[in-house]
Amino acid sequence: MQQQKYPLTWQKENFFIKIFCSIPNIATGILIKAGENYFVVDPGDGILRDLNSEIGTNKILGISDLFVTHGHHDHVGGVWSLLTYLRVMHKQTPLSIHFPKGCVEIESIYNAFRKVYSKTLPYEIILKEINKPKSFKSKNITIKPFPVIHKEYLHDGITTRQVPSLGYKFTFGKLKICYGGDTAYCEELVNHAKDSDLAIIEAGHDEETPDDMHMTLKEAKSIGETAKEYFLVHVPE
Ligand SMILES: [Zn+2]
Ligand SMILES: [Zn+2]
Repeated sequence: MQQQKYPLTWQKENFFIKIFCSIPNIATGILIKAGENYFVVDPGDGILRDLNSEIGTNKILGISDLFVTHGHHDHVGGVWSLLTYLRVMHKQTPLSIHFPKGCVEIESIYNAFRKVYSKTLPYEIILKEINKPKSFKSKNITIKPFPVIHKEYLHDGITTRQVPSLGYKFTFGKLKICYGGDTAYCEELVNHAKDSDLAIIEAGHDEETPDDMHMTLKEAKSIGETAKEYFLVHVPE
């Protein structure tokens, strides 16, 4: 399957996913629906607008979990507005934010948000730092986080460092969706994508030579093809 126009949607039985967009350096935004429960993955810029037109206020208020793969702005740019909207609209139920250990962006957004709004917050925010790739449940889905390889350049434009980064495998009943987030080719993703009902694989590297930040189209396809169906995302436009 080739790169497609956004949004991308997929559904099997009562398991539904909509990728509003996944554009490197701009924004990502993903909604999962399992039965009657809604979950959000990588709330980049524009997520509130997209959620509002897709499911409306009441269902947005019912969202129980945000899953963040890593702290780059194109994956977390919508967190502040989403948290604020939930406050303004009087969300009553807790919101868990799952993120990789060491992701200072989420910690900083949360701390700043608490500083501004802690006295007027009608709902509880539960930060769930992920340290170990252990499965856990939320509502009616099982989530298996797994480490991936994603680096970023330092100021000199030459030196790189590893960014705390995860992929997630979401299981609802017998159906499995694997989302790798931003990653170079890595065994963890190869293993988790294999035999998934849907694999969402980034192909963010715009050259033929592999590197340790993103995957080439060829690498991404080779992983995607081991799943029953796949989407290629995060392809440079
Ligand atoms: Zn990205
Ligand atoms: Zn990234």
